[in-house]
Amino acid sequence: MVSGPLQVTILGATGSIGLSTLDVIARHPERYQAFALTAFSRIAELRELCRRHRPRYAVVADSDRARVLQEQLDSDGVKTRVLVGEGGLSEVAAHPEVDVVMAAIVGAAGLRPTLSAVQASKRVLLANKEALVMSGALFMQALRDSEAVLLPIDSEHNAIFQCLPGNYAQGLSRVGVRRILLTASGGPFRQLPLDQLSSVTADQACAHPNWSMGRKISVDSASMMNKGLELIEACWLFDARPEQVEVVIHPQSVIHSMVDYVDGSVLAQLGNPDMRTPIAHALAWPERIDSGVSALDLLQVGRLDFEAPDQHRFPCLRIARQAAQDGGTAPAMLNAANEVAVDAFLNGRIRFTEIASIIEHVLDLEASVPARCLADVLTADAQARRLASHWLQSRDR
Ligand code: NAD
Ligand code: MG
Repeated sequence: MVSGPLQVTILGATGSIGLSTLDVIARHPERYQAFALTAFSRIAELRELCRRHRPRYAVVADSDRARVLQEQLDSDGVKTRVLVGEGGLSEVAAHPEVDVVMAAIVGAAGLRPTLSAVQASKRVLLANKEALVMSGALFMQALRDSEAVLLPIDSEHNAIFQCLPGNYAQGLSRVGVRRILLTASGGPFRQLPLDQLSSVTADQACAHPNWSMGRKISVDSASMMNKGLELIEACWLFDARPEQVEVVIHPQSVIHSMVDYVDGSVLAQLGNPDMRTPIAHALAWPERIDSGVSALDLLQVGRLDFEAPDQHRFPCLRIARQAAQDGGTAPAMLNAANEVAVDAFLNGRIRFTEIASIIEHVLDLEASVPARCLADVLTADAQARRLASHWLQSRDR
């Protein structure tokens, strides 16, 4: 049988991770072909991507945009078929001809299509950490119930995966792991005088010193909620207890995380901060392919610094660690409250320092309950969004 290139669906193709994925794929046309590209609302960008990558399907959020895009692609002579909404996303994630699904939608909106890809036993490249944070136990159970292969795209988790032995699923202590050292850059406000934190703007928060990313994750990095979500993500991916995951600030973002073994060995994965490295790693694993990322110049880097995270500056880290320990629906509520808060901050409705206040308020009001099924998770998500919105309304009054 002649096997052609692997068929790749990219959920969130117009985003930062989506575009980096297309960049890597385009370097290896003999290995990968874009099968479906999805976007929320930016149809001009999606049209351009369809012209360049000629996917079988495109997916957009609503039927008006779908109609416009379909007409444009028809007039371009591009044979891509445009599908709509969550149904369309799940269809292209689970399509029988698809081999690989890049889950790169931001936030809770990515949960269902990512789960569809897992249930359909795809190779799932997980960038959408919020999906796993929300539904951890259910997500990992769906993975065990299927033949899907989950590969982490988050640079830290990809690094940890690379530093763990192949049989780590037997249990971290069985393979001699003492701790996971999750590195964090500390974001743009690591050294800002604390009294200025409440007046930073959205653009300042999005100006990350080392990485270029979407706006939501950029704000999460500035508040270090991103590291909190990643702590929860690491617990699920590697079956670690929260206390086995230590956060270390490493401002250069050259080490992408480390694994500390009982014999005193610490393994680290290093590289230039460019998401094409973990993307290429996960696409080709267990092989290696060119990602377009230049070789790391250690002499240019010169030094690697480390420090402990400042608990006063980054309350979100403490709140997330508590949610990880509480388990059940707490991480789903944490994530939902954070999404509402970040959106409000990006739209100028609240101060940066109020992000943590909203999340803490929501988690104080609503106790965590066991997350036995997806409905439990979605109910907790909706309730947390309601409580966070009430907080915003009462503040505006
Ligand atoms: P982005 O904002 O640049 O892109 C998000 C993508 O999701 C876009 O294609 C957008 O159209 C789509 N989208 C947004 N809302 C949607 C909705 N409601 N329904 C359907 N599609 C929707 O974000 P990004 O920086 O590429 O991040 C994507 C995911 O990857 C996030 O979960 C983020 O935490 C994770 N991640 C990103 C980076 C990075 O370097 N950018 C690194 C690690 C992890
Ligand atoms: Mg990360």
